[in-house]
Amino acid sequence: MICDNLSVVNGHLHFARQDTVALAKQYGTPLYLLDEDYIRHQCRVYKAAFQKHFGPTSRPLYASKANSFRRMYEIMTEEGMGIDVVSPGEIYTAHSAGYDLRHAYFHGSNKTDGDIAYAMDCGVGYFVADNVEEISAIEAECARRGTVQKVLLRLSPGIDPHTYEAVATGKVDSKFGAAIETGQAEEIALFALAQPHVELVGFHCHVGSQVFGEDIFERAAAIMLEFIAHMERQHGYKTQQLDLGGGYGVAYKADDPHLDVEEKVAEVASSIKETCARLGIAMPEIHMEPGRSIVAAAGMTLYTVGAVKKIRGYKNYVSVDGGMGDNPRYALYKSAYTCYLANKMEEAQDFTADVVGRCCESGDILQPNVTMSATVARGDIVAVCTTGAYNYSMASNYNRLPRPPIVMLRGGDESYVAVRRESYEDLCRNDM
Ligand SMILES: *Cc1c(COP(=O)(O)O)cnc(C)c1O
Repeated sequence: MICDNLSVVNGHLHFARQDTVALAKQYGTPLYLLDEDYIRHQCRVYKAAFQKHFGPTSRPLYASKANSFRRMYEIMTEEGMGIDVVSPGEIYTAHSAGYDLRHAYFHGSNKTDGDIAYAMDCGVGYFVADNVEEISAIEAECARRGTVQKVLLRLSPGIDPHTYEAVATGKVDSKFGAAIETGQAEEIALFALAQPHVELVGFHCHVGSQVFGEDIFERAAAIMLEFIAHMERQHGYKTQQLDLGGGYGVAYKADDPHLDVEEKVAEVASSIKETCARLGIAMPEIHMEPGRSIVAAAGMTLYTVGAVKKIRGYKNYVSVDGGMGDNPRYALYKSAYTCYLANKMEEAQDFTADVVGRCCESGDILQPNVTMSATVARGDIVAVCTTGAYNYSMASNYNRLPRPPIVMLRGGDESYVAVRRESYEDLCRNDM
């Protein structure tokens, strides 16, 4: 199976050592499950690898946008993780869960004046500024408050992880960050250094997501370190922090590669050490921002089958009681998922159907061409695996469908509601 928190017992799919069919019955469907033990395990793997290879001051930052709700921040507090946040809503959620925002990095390519002020009110430790307008707005707000804000600058190293090329245009024309190649990164860095209420602590880049490419992070790091060396030689500026962003890929299908986080971190670290030695600079504090690789495989979504439509001579559809509202990823970018008929795991897998949602959109497809038992019928339970990242956080109320609850699983026999199911009343809460 694609992750070792999956197994089959008496024909039922088990997740985090609990029977998914029983969980569907207990909590209803659609239902998000999250394996708390797996999340904690991934945090520990990252932390241990960072301390071993980058040194005691480096830390992994959980990328909140992968899955953000209060309980998640309590877990991040308990695991000693930093976080990255991209909006005042994520800041509010973390703050209200008691997360100490001094360990938070505030991203986003368009922070409003209101966002900036709110983040400062909540004590966010670091801003990752994307552009000159933002640096000016941070400077103005700090001048008003009489404070100094620690800032990193988001740069674009010009690497496209999916064509696997360092390109002259390509990612240089991204909406994110200042391009190193065009000289704009240097300009923006000098601009930041000239602001009395901005303390420039370092640089950030994020090359992409679902990255498997052999040496993408090494190459990004090398380009960033060249820039850091240039800033030191030309301007006497010593960089304290280098944040390499997130992006490690996870297996969604059986033939996807599995990344060994500890091994990847070791490789990046040794490459960084070599590059620093070659350039004659001290190694900055290194951070990374894993999101997907911490939570994706910790998640599963359960649905109940409503209708099985067999269009003779054409194709088959299995309709479930959720869809693009709780998981828009296939509709958005054709994301692959592994799906099972959770209550018929040991029957012959002799039927192929598109698993589709209940929204009034032909594009409401969870996954095409899923093989399962031909006995599939109303009332069966469909499990979509690896939904812990970018599902709940991307969910909508399209068609006025309430969003599912999040039930956390731990210890092999415990489960509890971390986010309750939305009610119809919730749907109308803001209607005047
Ligand atoms: C999305 C994002 C991440 C997390 O990416 P994953 O692919 O989930 O690891 C980290 N940093 C930044 C700036 C991002 O935009």
